[in-house]
Amino acid sequence: MGSLDSNFPESSLPFSQFKPLDPEEFRKQAHQMVDFIADYYKNIETYPVLSQVEPGYLHSRIPNTAPYKPEPFDAILRDVQKDIIPGMTHWLSPNFFAYFPATVSTAAFLGEMLCTSFNSVGFNWLASPAATELEAIVMDWLANMLKLPKSFMFSGTGGGVIQGTTSEAILCTLVAARDRALARIGAENISKLVVYGSDQTHSTYAKACKLAGIIPCNIRSIPTTADTEFSLSPSLVRTEIEADVAAGLVPVYLCATVGTTSSAAVDPVAALAQVAEAYGVWLHVDSAYAGSACICPEFRQHLDGIERVDSLSLSPHKWFLTYLDCCCLWVKTPSLLVKALSTDPEYLKNKPSESDSVIDYKDWQIGTGRRFRALKIWLVLRSYGVANLQSHIRSDIRMAEMFEWFLKADARFEIVVPRRFALVCFRLNPRAGSEPGLIESLNRKLLECVNSTGRVYMTHTIVGGVYLLRFAVGATLTEDRHVVAAWKLIKKCADDLLKEG
Ligand SMILES: *Cc1c(COP(=O)(O)O)cnc(C)c1O
Repeated sequence: MGSLDSNFPESSLPFSQFKPLDPEEFRKQAHQMVDFIADYYKNIETYPVLSQVEPGYLHSRIPNTAPYKPEPFDAILRDVQKDIIPGMTHWLSPNFFAYFPATVSTAAFLGEMLCTSFNSVGFNWLASPAATELEAIVMDWLANMLKLPKSFMFSGTGGGVIQGTTSEAILCTLVAARDRALARIGAENISKLVVYGSDQTHSTYAKACKLAGIIPCNIRSIPTTADTEFSLSPSLVRTEIEADVAAGLVPVYLCATVGTTSSAAVDPVAALAQVAEAYGVWLHVDSAYAGSACICPEFRQHLDGIERVDSLSLSPHKWFLTYLDCCCLWVKTPSLLVKALSTDPEYLKNKPSESDSVIDYKDWQIGTGRRFRALKIWLVLRSYGVANLQSHIRSDIRMAEMFEWFLKADARFEIVVPRRFALVCFRLNPRAGSEPGLIESLNRKLLECVNSTGRVYMTHTIVGGVYLLRFAVGATLTEDRHVVAAWKLIKKCADDLLKEG
């Protein structure tokens, strides 16, 4: 070396620099990994969709301490195959009908690769201008696809941000609404704030309320009934709010859901907005699952009235072919979000931010660092176009209709709530007038029978006191034949159970 470092003392230890990102080594191993993943997708049906391992299974298979010396990549991949895959519940299996499917696509994977490879930490505009600007652009693209009003777009007066999960989207908007209210009534009155949802609202809502400092007895969970297909009644919300106001409390936030987690019920957005407006309550619409369907004109009516709400969230990692994690949040008044969440440390100060001409997304979310998630959505939208996304939604719904049709043709089964989107809620109920407890235990056994085969995975819920089975169609690899095979298996289990009984 030259004279520049001639004064730098030689290390007494032998030292050669470790190079963890050698481009040629990267090329070789990444190609190998892509082959591994492609084979995994190709063979996914050969694995039990619901993992059959026992708790703690991995302990006996993996050493208690990390290796001191490096291990070869081939050996690691072999262990993934041998030890990890058996412990996976295969969410991408075409036989996965549980929860809501997490849909994916080649385009989103490639976007995820790019996002990961840049590893931009884009907390403010300057930290990666493209990350911020592309995010603002794709959020406006999506808003357009959903026919959201200009008041939710950057090209209008609002804007959108990509978060990790619905939980974060709800917490951030709730904190904005809370601070708006506290600015009026004084921070010392936080225990007067009341929030509203239904008994079908996702469990993450109550968690977000607690995190935001809403006292638990001020979290109203308004009951729903079968008469309204488990949607939230605007008149009940009004009654609750009026009672709270009369008691000197301060209504602050209402969470409506388009497509509830249990049964995909749809709350009436426009009528709820009318109530929320009358009392100055922030109205958020959680459409994590079903929002994606609203890009099809035949489903857009579920968002009617959206111009009157304060915020809307939708998770492309559910039904928009986008790998976890990705939740889109639009707000009508970004300044309220920013006011509640902004930070201004010296080490992040910069001219563009001070000029107020850029978005600093760190002020729209919980964390500081953030991934370049917009790439995933951008690749999906460009690679497939709106047309293919619409037909993907419609094809899932058509398969759910087929499953519904099978159920209707077998008098032993009943559809408990009308099918919504691609979710069918049903139960086995062979003898009208049976004890509710007996029907429930029969259905628990049916679910156990189906899931223990490893050939199909479904889950259950309870709505209106009724235990039911959920069949959520839409894993990306699912085709008609998988739905047919699942139905045959369900029928076979039912036959066996009824023979026993
Ligand atoms: C799945 C779901 C959530 C949780 O969504 P994530 O974005 O995956 O955290 C919230 N609300 C509803 C209605 C859901 O279906």
